[in-house]
Amino acid sequence: MNLDSAKIIRRPTREITLGGLKLGGQNPIRVQSMTTPKTDDVAAVVGQVRELERAGCEIVRITVNNQSAADALGNILKEVHIPVIADIHFDYKMALAAMEHPVACVRINPGNIGAEWKVLEVVKAAKDKGLAIRIGVNSGSLEKPLLKKYGHPTAEALVESALASIALFEAQGFFNFKVSIKSSDVLNNYQAYTMLSAKTQAPLHLGVTEAGTKNYGAVKSAVGIGSLLLAGIGDTIRVSLSTDPVDEVKTGVYILKSLGLKNDAPEIISCPSCGRADIDVYKLAEEVERRALGLKKNIKIAVMGCVVNGPGESMEADIGIAGGKGEGLVYKMGKPIGKVPEAQMLEFLMSEIEKM
Ligand code: SF4
Repeated sequence: MNLDSAKIIRRPTREITLGGLKLGGQNPIRVQSMTTPKTDDVAAVVGQVRELERAGCEIVRITVNNQSAADALGNILKEVHIPVIADIHFDYKMALAAMEHPVACVRINPGNIGAEWKVLEVVKAAKDKGLAIRIGVNSGSLEKPLLKKYGHPTAEALVESALASIALFEAQGFFNFKVSIKSSDVLNNYQAYTMLSAKTQAPLHLGVTEAGTKNYGAVKSAVGIGSLLLAGIGDTIRVSLSTDPVDEVKTGVYILKSLGLKNDAPEIISCPSCGRADIDVYKLAEEVERRALGLKKNIKIAVMGCVVNGPGESMEADIGIAGGKGEGLVYKMGKPIGKVPEAQMLEFLMSEIEKM
């Protein structure tokens, strides 16, 4: 990080393509998530992908755990607009079956895919079809010999697993891949990614695996992913939460936004309220956040309870409101544009945001 300009300097990586999307290099850091319905429930999967997309998801992973899931991909892919990654475990034939459809990428886990020749079959098919692969190393499913060697899924063990797959892929002349090396332990995760990033030019997909429930998992992910992003590491991210994947996407977008790494989403700052506030700050801030979800605008919105910090923050934001007694003063681009009664604050703010 360059502290003088307070701007993150991203580590250079190789650019790869996922369908029509470019990733790595200096391309924007992409937010991913994963669907939760059974893959052969095409309507449910498509509905969820659209919801995720509306929230800011740019790449979606769908499990292909059996033949009927692979068969369903054809109909799913006709209905969705963002690149789809087929998620494969154990059976390389499922990767080959998924690649019969126009997926953008397959994710394979070297820890459970088995013999090298099976991996090579997948690499060959991806190369022939111009698709990408994600090498997805995970602390919960590391290769047995590495577990035996290191005793636990240490950072060194995760890195060794990833480097072996990277060497194998590159020896085939295949470079359209990215790598993840996720641990459920934040410190282990940090160590593994920093070690790996020093040893490969491949783009890295970040995440803290199995991070946990909505609140704790979001904090753990913000710390785990955020610390790596601050170090300039990471080309795509996925927040893993035990809740609606829309929350994963929101958290991912907020992590990037809070580090100045996303310029196509609004940032909302709001005060915690206190005894001085005469408006309902929580309700207004939550409603603004809900209505601004998925808005492709690089703006800062301030929702503030009173005149202590309200005018200052609102004038620094692109648009903001400072609460008063049952009303609020709205500022736009640093200038007051009107006093609005509390009941009309939300609509007034949103209509002004629409015009920006
Ligand atoms: Fe309290 Fe006003 Fe500060 Fe909000 S801006 S926390 S209402 S003093």
